[in-house]
Amino acid sequence: METLAGPCSWESKEQVEKTVKFLVKDCGIKYLRGGLKKYRSDPDAFQGVGLFDGMEYLQDLKKEYGFKLIVEVFNADDLDCLKNFADVFQIGSRNAYNTDLLRETNLFDKPILYKRHYSMGLNEFVMHSNYMTNNVIMCLRGDLSIHLQEQRFRSDMADIQRLKELTENKICYDVSHSSCEAKYVEKNTLAAMIYEPDMLMIEVHPEPKKALSDPNQQLDFKEFSVLLGKIKEGVKV
Ligand code: PEP
Ligand code: MN
Repeated sequence: METLAGPCSWESKEQVEKTVKFLVKDCGIKYLRGGLKKYRSDPDAFQGVGLFDGMEYLQDLKKEYGFKLIVEVFNADDLDCLKNFADVFQIGSRNAYNTDLLRETNLFDKPILYKRHYSMGLNEFVMHSNYMTNNVIMCLRGDLSIHLQEQRFRSDMADIQRLKELTENKICYDVSHSSCEAKYVEKNTLAAMIYEPDMLMIEVHPEPKKALSDPNQQLDFKEFSVLLGKIKEGVKV
């Protein structure tokens, strides 16, 4: 099982360097994820460093360490701009219904990490994935809770099993967004592993409390190392 890891957002040269070195050199992570443009409800919130600054921060490290990058795209221009840089395109949950964008990915020869919208049914998710002709990795990332004041998203790990019955595509479980808070990530990871997803996605930040997006759910380096050790041990049912 592959573990995809990285910060919610790539934020600065320093944060990028620290995170890449830790995840790739110390932990052996092969696929790094992190947003360069972010979807935020509040237009005054941090919107990401942008594709150009982000590529500049990452490109030398990418050559040096040889990791693969998963980058979220929002439109056809992003696909074109990132075609020689990203190894996997991420379609975020808010774009899960954007069939124009889903179709547009077919012009590029790249796998797609496709995140389910938090109110999308599994059949709908599978049907929408069929707009794409490249390899699609189906990513469950928590669905909407009716108890919004308590926790925005709920774990949807049991859907891994149901989704396997509906698609041949690989399945990724995003533990961070479905857990909402860092303190739940370890147990939720181990619990999700029982359903045998092909991949796990976990957000990691050198100083989560200072993160410019999703500060509550990201693990710090120590927490991630401990969890990775447990992931490698595997879970026995
Ligand atoms: C993310 O993966 O950083 C992200 C924003 O996720 P989602 O689109 O699932 O909210
Ligand atoms: Mn995030």
